[in-house]
Amino acid sequence: MDRYAVFGHPIAHSKSPLIHSWFAEQTGQSLSYEAILAPQDGFAESWAEFVRTGGRGGNVTVPFKEQAFALAGQLSARAKQAGAVNTLYIDSAGVLCGDNTDGLGLVADLQRLAAPLINASVLVLGAGGAARGVVGPLLDSGVSKVHIANRTASKAEQIAALFQHHVSASGYGNIPHEPWHLVINATSSGLSAERPPLDEAHLAATQLAYDMLYGKEPTAFLAWCAEHQIVCADGLGMLVGQAAEAFAIWRGVKPQVEPVLKRLRQELGL
Ligand code: NDP
Repeated sequence: MDRYAVFGHPIAHSKSPLIHSWFAEQTGQSLSYEAILAPQDGFAESWAEFVRTGGRGGNVTVPFKEQAFALAGQLSARAKQAGAVNTLYIDSAGVLCGDNTDGLGLVADLQRLAAPLINASVLVLGAGGAARGVVGPLLDSGVSKVHIANRTASKAEQIAALFQHHVSASGYGNIPHEPWHLVINATSSGLSAERPPLDEAHLAATQLAYDMLYGKEPTAFLAWCAEHQIVCADGLGMLVGQAAEAFAIWRGVKPQVEPVLKRLRQELGL
């Protein structure tokens, strides 16, 4: 049986083993998928041991996406743009390849939600690894303009500099008052009671507010957007979407996201 795994630290919370077992069931593939707790500074050794014992491919989550990027012998254009790898596999020549499917997962979820994308203006909050990984796929999906706002403005500016046109950046105090059709929270602030300090005027044209985080309670950001009558979505669909893209890379068959997302929401009570 082909062996796959997700690597993280911590990892016990990961939903990836459940998602991939349902994908395997749905597509009739025979595989195993486990969660591996790699030591904080020992991802490379943990991966090597996994491959030595028959591992075929893996997902990589916090805090190893940059270490996986450094380890891969060959990187996809998406991984290079993201500066991070969330999917690893070994090609027929034995080369360790790194890809990043987070941005594709987000765009697929936005399409599923009928979010405005073609010629849309998108405000991305946050400038960590997740934000960096989604800007390129958003532009590829037809978005005409992205503004990245971050607590530390210089980090947002560094991401914008990777793109020649259509991407601007600022701190929260200098977000242009323009119509933002879609607002995406890519900060980890949802984990606290804080939210990125937007003001109401930024939501004047917003058709969808999306938070990459998911959980039993809406994040402070989504709760505030809902108060302003904006349609809201959490990041569970992105999680299942990025997993579907990874599964397709490994197995050559793309699973259906919707039934697995529905089942996962039921399982988690979300
Ligand atoms: P990083 O640690 O790389 O970046 C964190 C970002 O959040 C930075 O921009 C940081 O700002 C900002 N931030 C943290 N706390 C606050 C706060 N209290 N107020 C304002 N800004 C804050 O994380 P990632 O980019 O990897 O992940 C971001 C989020 O996206 C996480 O919640 C993660 O769980 C989620 N995610 C979801 C995925 C999914 O499939 N649904 C996939 C990937 C990520 P600063 O630079 O100023 O420190």
